[in-house]
This record gives sequence, C-alpha cells and structure tokens, in this order.
Amino acid sequence: MKFISTRGAAPVLSFDEVVLTGLASDGGLYVPEVLPQISESTWRQWQSLPYDALAIEVMWPFVEGSMPRATFERMVREAYGSFRHSAVAPSKQLTHDVWLLELFHGPTLAFKDFALQLLGRLLDYFLAERGERGVVMGATSGDTGSAAIEGARHSEHLDVVILHPYQRVSEVQRRQMTTVLSDNVHNVAVEGNFDDCQAIVKASFMDQAFVAPNRLLAVNSINLARIMAQTVYYIYAGLRLGALDRPMAFSVPSANFGDVYGGFMARQMGFPIAHFTVATNANDALVRGLRGDLSRKPLLKTLSPSMDIVVSSNFERLLFDLHQRDGQMLAKVMADFQTGAVVLNDSVVQSARALFSAHAVDDAKTCETIRTVFEETGELLDPHTATAVDALQVTPAEMTKVVLATAHPAKFAEAVIQAGFSEVPLPTDMADLMHREERYTVLPNDLAQVQQFVQSVMG
Ligand SMILES: *Cc1c(COP(=O)(O)O)cnc(C)c1O
Repeated sequence: MKFISTRGAAPVLSFDEVVLTGLASDGGLYVPEVLPQISESTWRQWQSLPYDALAIEVMWPFVEGSMPRATFERMVREAYGSFRHSAVAPSKQLTHDVWLLELFHGPTLAFKDFALQLLGRLLDYFLAERGERGVVMGATSGDTGSAAIEGARHSEHLDVVILHPYQRVSEVQRRQMTTVLSDNVHNVAVEGNFDDCQAIVKASFMDQAFVAPNRLLAVNSINLARIMAQTVYYIYAGLRLGALDRPMAFSVPSANFGDVYGGFMARQMGFPIAHFTVATNANDALVRGLRGDLSRKPLLKTLSPSMDIVVSSNFERLLFDLHQRDGQMLAKVMADFQTGAVVLNDSVVQSARALFSAHAVDDAKTCETIRTVFEETGELLDPHTATAVDALQVTPAEMTKVVLATAHPAKFAEAVIQAGFSEVPLPTDMADLMHREERYTVLPNDLAQVQQFVQSVMG
C-alpha cells in the first residue's frame, strides 16, 4: 500500500516510511492512496475470527511488503496478548438496542492501548531493520503518555521521552507513567502547564538540527498506524453485533478525531457502518467543524480531560475525503484556517451530514448521564464514555447503536466522585500502583534544557 499526503505536495511513502514519519513535509497528514475493498462474503468468513486473527487480516493489506507475514502475526498476537480481557474488545448490552464496546482492557485502561501496543512494536522493528535507534518524544495530559510508554517499554531500539506538566496530572495517570522503570523510559515533569509541554515538543519537531541526529519519532494520533489499528475494533464489534444484517451506528467520544476516523476507514474498506455520532465535551471544535465552521475557541478544562482540545488534528483526513481527495484545494483551506476561521462550502457540509451527527456535552450532563446509566443498568461509565451515551439523542433511533467506552472509570476518579459515587478500584494487577517506586526528572519550562536532556538520553 502507498500513502499520500492530504495536501498533495509531499512524497508518496511506503508503510514503513509512513510509520517512521508522522507529519508529511507539506504539513498534511498521510492517508492510504487506495484502500482494499473487502467483499461481503469475506466479512462473513471473518465473523468467527478472534480479535487478534481478525486484526491480522484487516491490517495486512497496509503492512504487506514491509515485513514477513509471520513477523506481523507475532507482533499482533503480542500486542493484544497484553490485554486483561480474553475477548480484547468485548461488547456489553446497555439497553435493548444500545451496546457498550469496552476498549479499556489494555495495560493503561484506555483505548489508546489498541494503537500504541502495536505502534511501539512496529517502530522497534523498522528501526532494527535500519540498524538505527530512535526516540519517541511526546507531551501528555494523561492517556497518550502512559500508553506510549507501555507500548515501548520492551523496545530495544527505541527510547521514550514523555513530558507531563509537573503536579498537574492525576496521581493515577502520573504513576502509570513514572512507575515503568525500564532503562529506555524517561519521564520529564515540566514546571509549566500542558500547553508548555506541547510547545516544547512542537518546537523540537520543527528544529531539523535536533530531529535528524536524534531520530525523533512522533506517536501522536497523526501517525497513520494508530488509525489503522483502530479500524479493527469497529469491524470486530460490528461483526459480532450484526452490522452485516441491519444498520449500525457508532457513537464515539472524540477529540482529535483519530478514533472515529478509524471507523470511517473501516467503512471505506466496505464494512457496512450506517452512521457515526461524534460526541465532544464543552470543547466542541468537532461539532462546529461538522457544521462547516472551522474556528478556534479558548481551551476549557473539563471532567473528560482526554477530550480537552482546541484544534482537532485528524479532522483534516476527513476533510480530504469530503473535498474529493483534492490535495491542492485542501491545502488552501488549511492555509486559510492557519490564519483565521474558515466556512466550508455547502456540498462538503452536506456530505458530512449524510454520515455524521455531532453533539457537545457539558460536565453537568456528563455527571447526570453517569448517574442515570448506573441506575438503569448497574454500569459505571467513565466521563468520556458518558458523553457518547448522551450523544445517542442525535443518533438515528432505528439503528443498532454501539457506544465506544474509551476509558475505565478508575482512571477518572474526579468525575466519578462528582457524579456522586465513591472511587472505583483499579484492576487487581494494578492495585499496588500507589505504592510502586516512581522515577522522573523535573525540569524547568525551557526548550534548551529539555533538548539537552533528550540528547543525554540518546548518549
Ligand atoms: C484520546 C481519548 C479520546 C479522544 O480520542 P480521539 O482519537 O482524540 O478523538 C476519548 N476518550 C479517551 C478516554 C481518550 O483517551
């Protein structure tokens, strides 16, 4: 499979190159040039496959040519073998026609494990093939950092440097990162806020004199391999819950649009998904974007912090398709957005509306939904998942509805307590998290000192 940029002016890349590259040189994002078309009879044949076997079938057309099939099979089995639930992505019935797709059984209790367990292994393999070492550098306000660390802790060719804002992430989230004591894992607590951390990472990636010698690698959701891994659970759940025989809608707690774009890609491969509902918290960039209004609003701090964003990076991938894959035209739209607000044209908005609905949910409604669902079903939702349950009110009623449960409630105690419940215990294998040894380095909010630290890691 070949990969092209959404802005039409960057080199066409192979899979291994795209995994190692991140952002395209023209500022765009990589997408598959052509997706494989899977026939209905093949979907039916795949209906009986367990998660890892299905994952291999779905992802192999992307990966083919970059490694032997047996190597990829081993990688996928290892990646999903680390999950706590033998079904990997089990579905639970919530009401007569609503199902909860539980994506929080991975090592760090959030859906990001699905992509990062695999991405860490892919990066390690491609670096080994090239005889190189690389360093993953990222900033986190919570879920991404710990998932990236867990995905790379056993890598031999990869160091991980994750910046988090000093004393500004929850204790569970910090400890999920800082108690991983592998030699290649380096946590930096920056004396600043999340934006400061992100600014340091951004500046480092723009600094070619720093990127090239250190082989800097990005694992944020612009990496196409993450989206690829996220196509699989839509298909897995869809096959189990009858998507081949009746219309099915997925409701997705969304921020950077990476998760829901995975579902969109599954649909582009011919998997019958009838509708997507995009749920946001009060940071509603996607709700406005799907109405044709690309604009920025100040960041709000909410009870669903993993959805607190101003600009939704992967939305550009959908816009590319909605503009008939015309990279030149999209480059112009994105250039205009760089300097101000953009109003998308009517035909683009209409085609988006045919497939997507969107709904923003504030903190009060999030807590109310956590309470109502518990009263009606006994399920305690995390706050991100609760937004997607509330957003079902804009989902076509006649469809079978699947809500993506993106995190375990134990990870977000603040919301659970505000909703009126007592704190949820961690899974038993993590019960001693609060007593494990931690290791991290506190650094000032200063680009030069952080870069010096990264260089010392690379030795
Ligand atoms: C990252 C995250 C999201 C948002 O996913 P996107 O791919 O950015 O849209 C939602 N819920 C949780 C728990 C997350 O960690």
